[in-house]
Amino acid sequence: METVLIVEDTSFFGLMIKDKLKAETAFEAVWVCSMSEAIAALNEADSDFFAAILDFNLPDAPHGEIIDEVAARNIPVIIFTSDLSEEVRELVWSKNVADYALKDDSQSLDYIINMLNRIKKNADIKVLAVDDSMLFRKIMTDLLKIHRYNVFSARNGVEALDVLGKHPDIKLVITDFSMPEMDGFTLTRRIREKFNKNKLAIIGISSEGKNLLAARFIKSGANDFIIKQSFLTEEFYSRVTQNIENLEHIQMLKDASVKDFLTGLYNRRYFFDTGRKLFANAARDNLTISCAMADIDHFKNVNDTYGHEAGDLALCHVSSILKNRMRETDIVARVGGEEFCILAVNINPDNPGALFEELRRRVENSPIDIGTGQNIKVTMSIGVTSELADNLDDMVSHADKFLYEAKNSGRNKVIMSKPAGEDNDWQ
Ligand code: GH3
Ligand code: MG
Ligand code: MG
Repeated sequence: METVLIVEDTSFFGLMIKDKLKAETAFEAVWVCSMSEAIAALNEADSDFFAAILDFNLPDAPHGEIIDEVAARNIPVIIFTSDLSEEVRELVWSKNVADYALKDDSQSLDYIINMLNRIKKNADIKVLAVDDSMLFRKIMTDLLKIHRYNVFSARNGVEALDVLGKHPDIKLVITDFSMPEMDGFTLTRRIREKFNKNKLAIIGISSEGKNLLAARFIKSGANDFIIKQSFLTEEFYSRVTQNIENLEHIQMLKDASVKDFLTGLYNRRYFFDTGRKLFANAARDNLTISCAMADIDHFKNVNDTYGHEAGDLALCHVSSILKNRMRETDIVARVGGEEFCILAVNINPDNPGALFEELRRRVENSPIDIGTGQNIKVTMSIGVTSELADNLDDMVSHADKFLYEAKNSGRNKVIMSKPAGEDNDWQ
């Protein structure tokens, strides 16, 4: 678990931050009241702080001296201060901090928590900084690294496209305009041939500072624009964060339309839309494709005995067993209340039933914590077909037929299609 260091001499604020972190986040908090105590905590052999929230004005460090001590250890720093003179603001930003928040603003604590969560998520977000100036490239990459982004850099458009080719999951490209080999406009247009604005954001930067450049960058497909001469760290971070958050919101909307809210599995619509493509590819390439319908046994009893919330927990539990055991390329969907449909390509063609038997066993053997100190267990019946039908709908109805047989012959079993003459019961 990540630990956040709080250095704050006013008990009111120290306690407030600590309590809020405990109540609303998974971060641990260590709270000390002076720079000397903070240094002692940082020097402890096993100290490993994820981030630090620092009071600018401490009894033994009245002018932000604490910042250098913490930032030098490569720990992201958020300053919590009541003093926002221009002088303090400049001093704070000159010291490689991640951000600051004001004590007299009632939303500051929420802001700090958002920032901590942001920094945590950033480790999985790839950002590419493109500039022919080594100095400016370093300024950008250093700033991005303070916010813990996974940073790549390139010296011109050609190099940038090469990096993007190797890392197509890059979420943000920040690019200069004037560069040798390929300029920022051309790079932006080339990127947009492959990556639309829902997938990747582009921020244009130029040292020329003419308004026309901003418009042209945006017309070429950039989302945003920064002028080099008036470059402010705070503005840079704000634009980077805003562009990343926009992409995350788009992703959330997309997920909401294809995923089931309760379990996070795909929904019925996604199953049939994407499943038809998977089916067509498998049929064309002569791959084995397996379709399974699974249904929790006597699930109504779970609701009736332990309540609807326990039922929901059981659904989530079973869903995560299915999701964790299948591959990214398989489709696992919740197609009804306690019914799941799985479509998988090339799972052990000699013995496709083994995987589903393993799923059945995992569900049977893993206890579900329903939060009342009680553990319950459920079982699941599964019908499977691995014989290519004319279309996906037929495969689903064949799997459904085997599921029906599993239910009628005792439940908690896998029944699958087998070549003629063999027993259909997998167990
Ligand atoms: P069988 O072994 O024949 O499948 O019996 P069953 O009780 O599992 O099947 P039945 O279809 O009779 O009941 C399904 C139950 O699932 C009834 C419904 O209230 C419950 N259910 C459906 N969706 C949800 C949900 O989102 N949450 C909870 N807690 N229950 C749900
Ligand atoms: Mg059921
Ligand atoms: Mg049912």
